[in-house]
Amino acid sequence: MPPPDNSETITATANARSSRLPDRERENDERYDPQRVENKWFQLWQQDPSLYAAEADSTKKKYYVLEMLPYPSGVLHMGHVRNYSIGDALARYMWMNGYNVLHPMGWDSFGLPAENAAISANVPPRQWTLSNIANMKAQMKRLGFAYDWSREVTTCFPEYYRWNQWFFLKFHEMGLAYRKKSKVNWCPKCATVLANEQVVNGCCWRHQSTPVEQRELEQWFLRITKYADELLRDLDKLTDWPEKVRTMQRNWIGRSEGTLVDFKLANTKSDAAAASTISVFTTRVDTIFGATSVQLAPQHPIVADLAAKNPDLRAKVDQLIAEQRKAKEAGDIGEIEKHGVPTGSYAINPFNGEKVPIWVANYILMDYGTGAIMSVPAHDERDYEFAKKYNIEIRLVIVPVGDDPEETVAEPPLPFTTMNGSLVNSGPFSGLTCEEGVKKMSAHAEKSGFGKATVTYRLKDWGISRQRYWGTPIPMLYCEKDGIVPVPEKDLPVILPENMDSTLTGGSPLGRVPEFVITTCPKCGGPARRETDTMDTFVDSSWYFYRYTDAHNHRAPFDREIEEYWFPIDQYIGGVEHAILHLIYSRFWTKAMRDLGLIKNDEPVARLFTQGMVTYQGAAMSKSRGNVVSPDEMIARFGADAARLYVLFAAPPDRDLDWQDSGIEGIQRFLGRVYRFVLRNARPDHPDWRKQVPGDLPLQARVLQRKLHQTIKRVSDDFQGRWHFNTCVSAIMELVNALYGAEEAIAKNSIPSPLLAEVQRSLVLLLAPFAPFISHELWEMLGEKGNLLKAPWPKYDAALAKEEEIEVPVQINGKLRSRIVVPADSAEDFVFDHALADEKIRSAIAGKQIVKKIHIAGKLVNIVVK
Ligand SMILES: [Zn+2]
Ligand SMILES: [Zn+2]
Repeated sequence: MPPPDNSETITATANARSSRLPDRERENDERYDPQRVENKWFQLWQQDPSLYAAEADSTKKKYYVLEMLPYPSGVLHMGHVRNYSIGDALARYMWMNGYNVLHPMGWDSFGLPAENAAISANVPPRQWTLSNIANMKAQMKRLGFAYDWSREVTTCFPEYYRWNQWFFLKFHEMGLAYRKKSKVNWCPKCATVLANEQVVNGCCWRHQSTPVEQRELEQWFLRITKYADELLRDLDKLTDWPEKVRTMQRNWIGRSEGTLVDFKLANTKSDAAAASTISVFTTRVDTIFGATSVQLAPQHPIVADLAAKNPDLRAKVDQLIAEQRKAKEAGDIGEIEKHGVPTGSYAINPFNGEKVPIWVANYILMDYGTGAIMSVPAHDERDYEFAKKYNIEIRLVIVPVGDDPEETVAEPPLPFTTMNGSLVNSGPFSGLTCEEGVKKMSAHAEKSGFGKATVTYRLKDWGISRQRYWGTPIPMLYCEKDGIVPVPEKDLPVILPENMDSTLTGGSPLGRVPEFVITTCPKCGGPARRETDTMDTFVDSSWYFYRYTDAHNHRAPFDREIEEYWFPIDQYIGGVEHAILHLIYSRFWTKAMRDLGLIKNDEPVARLFTQGMVTYQGAAMSKSRGNVVSPDEMIARFGADAARLYVLFAAPPDRDLDWQDSGIEGIQRFLGRVYRFVLRNARPDHPDWRKQVPGDLPLQARVLQRKLHQTIKRVSDDFQGRWHFNTCVSAIMELVNALYGAEEAIAKNSIPSPLLAEVQRSLVLLLAPFAPFISHELWEMLGEKGNLLKAPWPKYDAALAKEEEIEVPVQINGKLRSRIVVPADSAEDFVFDHALADEKIRSAIAGKQIVKKIHIAGKLVNIVVK
């Protein structure tokens, strides 16, 4: 069922209702004032910091629900409110279902914006960060999110980042952390290196219109590629992750099986530069006798060599680089118009000794495979297109094989790209099937020493060095005598110095603090220099959720036994934009911690949910567009409950939500209706208020009871299943409509008090995960003393929820023709539709005109025809 068009539904019901209201003044007296009620509960909750604390040594079943920790930018946006409202509803639901719930929050508080603010506003990064945290924490509390603040993690505090340093030392011992000189991605705006994962369409992930440059630097890397296969394989276990995220990770890891083949440069003097071999990676070595050129990425080192003495070639190659960058910026490198230039040099195909021309092409990417391919135009779409354009030889080496050998086509239409063929024109390998060819030719390459079967990954090791100030210092030293020396564990943490001139000039700012840099070598006691790069902030978020389980441990990052109780995370909730970066890094970190003997679990997160974006006027909210809806303003106008309920109601949580002011107004009116109903109908002092609901209810009471049990079922099912909280909220709205519909019966005392009590109590319990403030107020109004947070979730009775059915006689022109069975409280249209769909009725009125339809509810239907 599609989600309701909320704003209109609410407005319509609201209008219908206000026209029915007997007395406007009465409504004014009973007006719900969210500010008064929410402030009252806010104050009460502040007084009890252990309110939402997870229990230690609990025998209850555990439930770890987590929303991704925010960067402390200073103010929550609606995307945060949505993310946390989903998590908070779930946490409250699990508490009410008797679980020991862990629901913590923290701050991903290192990173560049703090440093930039320091530069532009002259506020120290720490001060800027901590005041932002204070603001956002106050907003979260005002929104009523039920966090266990005793476990708050702030990644820029030494008690946290010392463990980043500790892990780094352990990883270094294990060979997982290493230093090497390499070409790295450099964002000139950030003035720092970026990981591959942080390059989006050739630009910086933070500065999406700033093309990333390549620089050669000594950097620290984490060997994530060691886990490439396991990261890929274990995706199959993550069946409760969105398929979209798993696919993105699979593609990012990018495993492909194939063969590396070395083509030597022709006519290279033996004393020439070391770069005299071009390694190509191919998944189709069986087609190598059809290779008629070798193509290199414009940034390939051999291209640089060849162009060094050839200014004309250099200029052409620079042009190709520019085209490639432009396509990357536009995000359509896959669609780039293919251009290339011949270098005038040749390489030798080691399989047949043949000289093939070397080209440089704009569609070959240096960061993919080896940055070089063999071009086989007869058997590859892209190569075919290129060869046609530049008039390069196209040589057939595979012909199709059908079931019947007679059907073999000697000259298939080109390019012929399937593996369903056999080799021709391929020397000693002719006659093999493609599959045999791949195997035998790989083995041949390996035996002859010019290649080997191999698996390649798109995933590269994670470069974590950042030439920035506001991050975790890398705990390494450089001694003239001993080289690279790890900081001894007992000397951790290496504290980030506080008073910094963090002018953005490029190069690591820590290098300009002699008190930091100059130190003593722990090995020889001589002078040493500290590493001045800091860690990528994605290190901080790679393991923070483990720290929540044991946040104040001074001896270890966390206690194993406590970790074992809480992990894996039962439900993790965040934006899909983290599908590659954070969600791959933290999976890697978990596997590395397991190999370190710290934990037993292979994966950190059992279930992942990615919520949709919150947009306004159809576009992502942004300051520059001026379309930001501020949570503070919404709280001031409508209250926190309305803001929370609205973000859950306005769209299924996995879809994008376009903010509508009329929508939140409708929610505010709905909450007012709930409040007024309870205000008028709570009678906790009535002698029957706490009695059992009688079994023999009058019809109208039974209809209300059925609606109640149906609503409990729908809301419970949604929490267990598809999480379409929007339909939960509309079900609760329908229940409230039914209550208003029963007001007359209530006035006439035809709804027994125990039922009136039960339906209101359950209504409040159902609302509690979504709108905690008003629910607590109503709970009190209903005379309940216990904490609503731990009140048991209402249970439905399947028999009571079942629609009661009645048999209705159907007459035509007053004569009984059939009987139909419909739900007891069916609407008139529904009954007519069923009557007219009945086989006997249909044939009886065939070809006649219906003049009139009469319905006497519960008694009969009469159809007048002529
Ligand atoms: Zn940048
Ligand atoms: Zn030394």
